[in-house]
Amino acid sequence: MEYTQSRQIWVMTQEYELVHDPIHECIIPALSGRWEEEKKLFGHTHRIEQATLKDGSVLFGIAYELLSHRCVTIRRDFFHGILGILKTDLEESALSQDFNQAMQQVAVSCLKKGDFSPLLMIPATAQEELDERDLRSTGYMDICSWGIGEERSPAKFPNIELSSGSPVIQVECIGTVKSIWRLLPEELSHERNLTVLLRLVLEITGPKPEDFQTAVAVRLLGQEIEKVRERMLKENRTEKLIQLLRRLEDTSRGGELEHGVASEIGETLGLTDLSLGGGHHRVVESPIGFMFSHGGTMHLSETGVMVVVNCMHCHQPFPIRAGLLKPASSLIGVKAYRIPGLRYRFTHQGGAGFLLQDGKMVGRFIWGIPTCSCPRIEQVKVNLDDLPLPKPNTYNYGTDDGREWIPMDIEKRLKVNVWTGGQTHAS
Ligand SMILES: [Zn+2]
Repeated sequence: MEYTQSRQIWVMTQEYELVHDPIHECIIPALSGRWEEEKKLFGHTHRIEQATLKDGSVLFGIAYELLSHRCVTIRRDFFHGILGILKTDLEESALSQDFNQAMQQVAVSCLKKGDFSPLLMIPATAQEELDERDLRSTGYMDICSWGIGEERSPAKFPNIELSSGSPVIQVECIGTVKSIWRLLPEELSHERNLTVLLRLVLEITGPKPEDFQTAVAVRLLGQEIEKVRERMLKENRTEKLIQLLRRLEDTSRGGELEHGVASEIGETLGLTDLSLGGGHHRVVESPIGFMFSHGGTMHLSETGVMVVVNCMHCHQPFPIRAGLLKPASSLIGVKAYRIPGLRYRFTHQGGAGFLLQDGKMVGRFIWGIPTCSCPRIEQVKVNLDDLPLPKPNTYNYGTDDGREWIPMDIEKRLKVNVWTGGQTHAS
């Protein structure tokens, strides 16, 4: 059902009949019929309610996002609201009067139920304080807090322990950050910049087509690995990619920059193909186009980078796309962890994870699928004392000064300055 403002909505049934009074002729009879069916199935109305509550668990990240769009004006109301949406056993009266501690209590109760979304929230200190005018339209500091959708598959190791109030979780260490490269979506649509990126990836992965296509199409641009493999098997694309990579390699060795090679590689991988819509995201956009919209937002816009991570066992390097919350130069050497099994709407299976520095999340990624097969499950403690907090919306409604409202860009919502002095990479 879609929201619409027309006063002259008519409904057409599957049998192509127009209905003049849809509420009484269609919706109420359909609801009543369904209700009777459910009653027969469950035997009692109370059992239907219980089943609804049980199945309706909502993620911490989603509940936060829902509430923050609704401009709750009294700060404490946020906690009544979030506990109601989360359907947790935790009561508001049991929460600390300190907002930060109360938020941690809520987050920990979610983590105990296997909801790992608090670990991927954008910390409060990384976000700009909003003024009254911004709060008027956006409510809490919300836009860059979640955005990666509902859970599709749970974490493989859902059990957590607590150490001094902080969760200790089982995650997979991908390796340590070796270098970080600037990676703006708009740069990918220019031949010269795409050439620079593809050469870089080629240097990291080598010319093996499977490794190269996984790095570019799956880890950096979010396409589904099965679909990429399927595509490459058709129309001799793998052979074509091998030849194109040879040409790219030649130019990397000091040869002349051959115009068009990068675009051809992009086309072969489907990076500009509108039907591929950023893989599983089901949107009519090309994988590169998706990075201009929600794909870019999820990677925190201007702070989106390519991080090269080295496995600590086999020393193989892997590029992954990540959104950073600290200057790039301060993150060389930090460890990257992925959460096995976990999948959200916009992430790959097991592709979501974070960079951790001194127990704090300092960057997150969503397409960092398994790399080499070295064993490396670790127990890590993640500090949750910097979760985004509700801000009261103090905008004085009814006294509009007539100034034009300008939506705030996501990069202005983040305090992070990843690059300094024209720098484009850190290693
Ligand atoms: Zn390895």
